[in-house]
Amino acid sequence: MIAEIIAAGSEMLTPHRQDTNSLFLTAQLNDLGVEVAFKTIVGDNIDHLTGAARTALSRADIVIFSGGLGPTEDDLTREAAAAALGLEIRRDGDLLAALYKRFAARQMTMPPNNAKQADILEGATVLANPNGSAPGQLLDTVVDGYRKVVILLPGPPRELKPLFTEVVKPLLAATLPPRYLARRVLRMPLIPESHVDARTAPIYREYTDIQTTILAGHGEIQLHFVSSKTTLFEAQARVDELTSRIEAEMQDAIYSSQGESLEEVVLLMLEMRHLTLAAAESCTGGLLAQRLTAVPNSSRAFVGGAVVYTPELKTLFADVPEEIIETYGAVSPEVARALAEGIRSRTGATFGIATTGIAGPTAGTGLDADKPIGLVYIGLSDGRETRVKELHLNGDRDYVRWWASQHALELIRQTLLTNL
Ligand code: ATP
Repeated sequence: MIAEIIAAGSEMLTPHRQDTNSLFLTAQLNDLGVEVAFKTIVGDNIDHLTGAARTALSRADIVIFSGGLGPTEDDLTREAAAAALGLEIRRDGDLLAALYKRFAARQMTMPPNNAKQADILEGATVLANPNGSAPGQLLDTVVDGYRKVVILLPGPPRELKPLFTEVVKPLLAATLPPRYLARRVLRMPLIPESHVDARTAPIYREYTDIQTTILAGHGEIQLHFVSSKTTLFEAQARVDELTSRIEAEMQDAIYSSQGESLEEVVLLMLEMRHLTLAAAESCTGGLLAQRLTAVPNSSRAFVGGAVVYTPELKTLFADVPEEIIETYGAVSPEVARALAEGIRSRTGATFGIATTGIAGPTAGTGLDADKPIGLVYIGLSDGRETRVKELHLNGDRDYVRWWASQHALELIRQTLLTNL
């Protein structure tokens, strides 16, 4: 069974509003084992909406409309769904009476156009909406010999969400054939997408019943596997089998197979070994500490650190000798090394990690003036040995800072994998 979501509303075709309802609905449908195959956003135009409804009915088993159930002239979902299905609309007397009552309870006279919120598609079940005036509707019908479930939901998320979870979901669960989705996400940092695909595609292509997606971005590649079966056990076993084979191929390049972030994994590895970490950050300006402290209970492994942006603070907070900065410049392997060692001994942590670099878009100053934008040094000290990594990153300021933090976390992970 596949679903299509149609979000009605011209505002979502502007840069100012986003269709978030479909994200919620997708998660809910996935819970029921239903895959969302299409999403459409349509402006408030009867021809466009009817066309979108016809297309959806031709390719999806379940069509869910969000929005356009209000009282105004641009609320056209009922009319479009009726036209696409070739059905009449009837005005429901009980709903109309309830609408009048709702207004009367607020000492208001109901404007005549509000009556259209009592319009129901022929044969549809009314879904009571205690949080708003427009009820939802559900129609379980047959179009050209195929079963189609058509659902109309109000647009405001505070109305749509409870209506779906409390009313629609149990109805769907009772009528759809049982189907369960199992999902695994493998994450690999700092590796080109083409490498991952070349090595993993021969394996995942054997699993034609598993939907595989490769996502690239933010300094990592993610492989998503989704399996849909009649029992959760079967679905889980199938994705687990594929995951094991990919893990055997990619080995330590994979840092997580349950969706955990790189910072979560690094913190867990440190904590399991009773080790601690401190950071001295120049070019990442606290981004590394931010990522680490965003993880609950990170203080079990991350003791803290310092943002040491000027040369003076590098000396003051991380004991970097002034002459090192004066001789080599702040963006240098020598300073990365001294920062890592300095913050480690200052804080008493097992590891000191340091970042220094030129994030751009303007060049560095003084001795760093001729160094290229994107040049970054990462230092990692464990008290016995200090490793320094030189990076040449290609991108804007945000990109350079993020990738520097990603490299720093990965350097810690690799060190923990190989040394301890
Ligand atoms: P109402 O009866 O309140 O008019 P409606 O069903 O006609 O409800 P719309 O008028 O389409 O819904 O949308 C009302 C508000 O709900 C929008 O201004 C927007 O804030 C929110 N909304 C609508 N659709 C979505 C969506 N797909 N995702 C997130 N928010 C939405």
